[in-house]
Amino acid sequence: MDEQQLLNDITRNVQPLLDKGRVADYIPALARVNPRQFGMALATVEGEVCGAGDWQTRFSVQSVAKTFSLALALAADGERLWQRVGREPSGNPFNSLVQLEYEQGIPRNPFINAGALVVVDRLLTLTGDSWASVRDFLRSETGNDQIDFDGEIANSEASYGHRNAALAHFMASYGNLENPVGDVLRHYFQQCALSMNCAELAKAGLFLARHGIRADGSRLLSRSDAKRMNAVMLTCGTYDAAGEFAYRVGLPGKSGVGGGILAIVPGRYSLCVWSPGLDSHGNSVAGVEALDLFTTRTGLSVF
Ligand code: GLN
Repeated sequence: MDEQQLLNDITRNVQPLLDKGRVADYIPALARVNPRQFGMALATVEGEVCGAGDWQTRFSVQSVAKTFSLALALAADGERLWQRVGREPSGNPFNSLVQLEYEQGIPRNPFINAGALVVVDRLLTLTGDSWASVRDFLRSETGNDQIDFDGEIANSEASYGHRNAALAHFMASYGNLENPVGDVLRHYFQQCALSMNCAELAKAGLFLARHGIRADGSRLLSRSDAKRMNAVMLTCGTYDAAGEFAYRVGLPGKSGVGGGILAIVPGRYSLCVWSPGLDSHGNSVAGVEALDLFTTRTGLSVF
């Protein structure tokens, strides 16, 4: 397959969609991003990377980072983590509060915000510095020591992050946080504010395509845990649109409100698409279309 040709083609095809979505504006610093951007990168399990469009432009990773904190927490904690967070699709928006009360402070899954806060809390206990462990993992998977968070975006989110603060306090009231709420939120906002490009994210996701094996050949996750993480991405990674994403794309995927989506073809590729215009569920409009085109044209999906 000529992957470069395919990415070029897809990039051309999604251009009419670049003014269709809406840039996330509940984090003021994200509202200033130019929506008419699109990038796509593909990394092979052998470690080769190609890309098209704005694939080397850095953007705010946001909830795509939940993939990496979950992997690190699972690697360190194993099955214990699942006592504090579920693994069922929520059918609710990523920042919803309602379900958390019905379910006594146990979030439905690790990819909605409440679940990701629990994961960060656990990683903070296990490592002493959740943010630094995510950053160091990403630096070593990409070979780029410059990877860091954007302070303006982290501060912007901290100033307007009332919902996440509410979720965290609510879980603390049920005894489902081990660390002070302020610390958990700080580590969470910093991982959301990571600034990376499509090529870097595609490389960082390769451990999931390689059934748990990192860039240096060491094992992060057992084969089973890598398979399970891909399953949770497929069922929960795009929130209350996970059914539609599975229908259209058919790959494990994790989106973020910065407009990025990481998608995995197990045993073969890690893909990252980015375009800031979002649909009403917080998923990139052109990004989902690009992945839909990719799996339709190649016939590659997990089904
Ligand atoms: N930082 C964002 C938030 O917590 C991440 C949400 C997302 O990307 N879906 O609201």
